[in-house]
Amino acid sequence: MLRFSLLSSGSAGNAILIDSGDHKILIDNGLSYKELLSRATEIGESLDNLIGVLVTHEHGDHVNGVGVLSRKQSVPTYITRPTFKALHPRIGKIDPIEHFDSGETLFIGPFKITSFRISHDAMDPVSFVVETQGCRLGLATDLGKATHLVRERLEGCHALVLESNYCPLMIRNSPYPPAIIQRIRSNQGHLSNADMNSLLAELIHENLQWVVAVHVSQENNSEDLVRRMAQQVLKDHPAQLLIADQERPSPMYTIQPQALEASPT
Ligand SMILES: [Zn+2]
Ligand SMILES: [Zn+2]
Repeated sequence: MLRFSLLSSGSAGNAILIDSGDHKILIDNGLSYKELLSRATEIGESLDNLIGVLVTHEHGDHVNGVGVLSRKQSVPTYITRPTFKALHPRIGKIDPIEHFDSGETLFIGPFKITSFRISHDAMDPVSFVVETQGCRLGLATDLGKATHLVRERLEGCHALVLESNYCPLMIRNSPYPPAIIQRIRSNQGHLSNADMNSLLAELIHENLQWVVAVHVSQENNSEDLVRRMAQQVLKDHPAQLLIADQERPSPMYTIQPQALEASPT
């Protein structure tokens, strides 16, 4: 079994809690320690048994709470050297720290975590596939382009957490300065709804159980639009479609090792 929650998702803070039953890891923490704890409590969880915090890249919405969390809980922080260099000393002392190389597979408690390079305007951005007990969770947020590598790594996941950041029409009319709009839309920016859906279309398979759209812009997108577009791709596939929220934590979603089969009659 593997359970996961988007404790927070969007440009104001990201944190994903993943639980194997006995151990937990956190991917990124853009929240204050107080907010992180309160969101975990809100969904009936805690940070007990947390055995690792993994960092995708150095942008504030992913790391602002990483330093304080490390000092409060002394849980190892896993981060690539270039990302740590880009952060240091902004978030203070991190101890213990475990460096890994982009592309490396990490074994943390019961979790096998495959890191892979993504295209984003950061020093050494990575994303992860997290596996335990036959359950496979694939994450892809903060990327401007779903490269061949990204598509390959995310194959066969039971749950997909995919960025659906902006609607191209809405961002064109947004009050953002042109340079920011250009950055978001570039190959090193963020995925649009259509980008997410073409990635999803390639990754659909019969054991897919959850699709969670994340990092949805509050200014340049609408939940309704994200849902309608992804539903058109999923059609009558039984996977649950969810949209992560900036303001509230999601419930814990449970991945079963394989899709439930109809019991023999
Ligand atoms: Zn971000
Ligand atoms: Zn970013």
